[in-house]
Amino acid sequence: MPEKRPPFIAGNWKMHMTVPETRMLLEKILEAGPELGSAEIVVIPPFTSLGEAARILAASSIALGAQNLFWEDKGAFTGEISGPLLRDIGCRYVVVGHSERRQIFGETDGTVNRRVRAALRSDLKPIVCVGETFEERDGGQTLPRVRTQFEGALEGISHEDVRKIVLAYEPVWAIGTGRTATPGQAEDVHAELRQKFEEMYGKEAAACAIILYGGSVKPANSFSLFREKNIDGFLVGGASLEAETFIPIVKEAMKAYKEVE
Ligand code: PEP
Repeated sequence: MPEKRPPFIAGNWKMHMTVPETRMLLEKILEAGPELGSAEIVVIPPFTSLGEAARILAASSIALGAQNLFWEDKGAFTGEISGPLLRDIGCRYVVVGHSERRQIFGETDGTVNRRVRAALRSDLKPIVCVGETFEERDGGQTLPRVRTQFEGALEGISHEDVRKIVLAYEPVWAIGTGRTATPGQAEDVHAELRQKFEEMYGKEAAACAIILYGGSVKPANSFSLFREKNIDGFLVGGASLEAETFIPIVKEAMKAYKEVE
């Protein structure tokens, strides 16, 4: 059984937040810093705000992530962004295989795997997203679907590198819809994913793996979700755009952490 560690909470800002808005939000999060305890916080702004965010967060423990990367390190790939460029600007994490990338931009398990490898090559920790659609859940396909996505994303990843990967279970039907998976529904999938880690990489790697839940996480459901054994934190979309919702999500998860610690 994994030991509960402090919550890991990442805010995916998607295609929102100008540079002045970035400044305002990060200043509020930094101000709340002392109240957020030992939670590990990652902010994931759009590419255009990464430089400013890196400058503001330089002396803090809040980490910076990017929303995507290309699988080549450099070259004639107009419009793309590479691992070395993200590392250079101060990113430590990068989201890979978000359902919006899969659904709108045709991302496949194969391209997710190429991006995971590229991230690791550049010393970036990939936050790898998996999750089923409503139809797949309805058809009883949730666990096979996330297992396939897991295997595809991690194909060929070594025992050493797998420790740098953060996994995010994000049911597609819960993203941006206001419909959250119940703690029980999320826990079932998280337990399955940890089991997959164990099958592929052994007990110890499975116990250390960080598995986030994402899908309409709010201050009102953060506590009950985080109390589940296999939920290590959250990937938050909409509610990460305002300090007034993001900070209480962290605080509620910390409250649950202290209770189960
Ligand atoms: C996300 O985009 O990863 C996400 C979970 O979004 P939301 O919290 O808005 O559902």
